[in-house]
Amino acid sequence: MKLRLAFLYIVSAILFCLIVVLALSNKNKVEEEKKEEEEIQFESGSTIQLLRNTTGQIETLDLNYYLLCVVASEIPFNYEYEAIKAQAIVARTYLFNKIKNNKEENADVCDNYAHCQAFTDISELERIWKNKGFSQEDIKQGEEKIKRAIVETQGEVITYNGEIIDALFHASSPEKTEDASAIWSQIDIPYLRAVDNVEDESYDKRTSTNVISYATFKNTLIDNGYITDLSIDDFKNIHINEYTKSGRVKTIAVGSYCIKAENLRSLFGLNSTNFTLKILGEDIEFNVLGYGHGVGLSQVGANTYAKSGKKCDEIIHHYYTDVEISNINSEQMKRGEI
Ligand SMILES: [Zn+2]
Repeated sequence: MKLRLAFLYIVSAILFCLIVVLALSNKNKVEEEKKEEEEIQFESGSTIQLLRNTTGQIETLDLNYYLLCVVASEIPFNYEYEAIKAQAIVARTYLFNKIKNNKEENADVCDNYAHCQAFTDISELERIWKNKGFSQEDIKQGEEKIKRAIVETQGEVITYNGEIIDALFHASSPEKTEDASAIWSQIDIPYLRAVDNVEDESYDKRTSTNVISYATFKNTLIDNGYITDLSIDDFKNIHINEYTKSGRVKTIAVGSYCIKAENLRSLFGLNSTNFTLKILGEDIEFNVLGYGHGVGLSQVGANTYAKSGKKCDEIIHHYYTDVEISNINSEQMKRGEI
């Protein structure tokens, strides 16, 4: 009797183990299939033509792979998820605007951030992130977060009156963004207007200081054809001449000359045109607020709003006036349906 009972126990134990092993292997199989499905879903099925500026080569890339490399190049992956989703929509909008309007390049878009959007291959970004001290796990999670943001916003672009917009963006503009017309032209772009902005004060480039000597300031302006001479007395009288509506510097007075703040920004590497200036002996000191041209979406602001619970569509509607978020695919775009 005892023997039969023991036998039954052993058989039951073996059966139980078998069931557990089968269940586990099935779970692994399901997980593997799910993973495979996720990989397949990430590919968009549409391609774009990317011009590599360094080699002049044109490459055909999957649309979503292109967006992954752009979003990962343009915004830190440890920003809030809703801010990353907003950047994904902005990157897609920027691309489709280029596909439609790019007549200068023999491709849809190029990899130069100053001309189109920043594009660095994900393998190169992984190397950069690793050198910055991110762990393999951080990097993996960061990439997955961006991929999810791209898939979840698949096909979404920003439009104004049915037309795809020029989705400009920048890093930071504490307090207020800028009208596009105040910087590049006098033409009003109705969806790129200055709006109030709230930004996390811990952003490391929120404020910055540039100190430039009299000699460097004078010689740089002369070498670039802005002035012919500058006496030390005129240097000591340099002052802000005009502000834009949103409170950035528009021009400064240098002797009898009037210099655009945007030109100063590029000549002397100022982070933005939102600055105060003072003369300290034979130096000029610029105290700068924010980073970038200030037009359109502010990335630090998007992150701050996301932290306070705003969704990506609310963030987009905040920075781009009277726009809509529309759904398209690249084929529609190429056929000129939008
Ligand atoms: Zn380009």
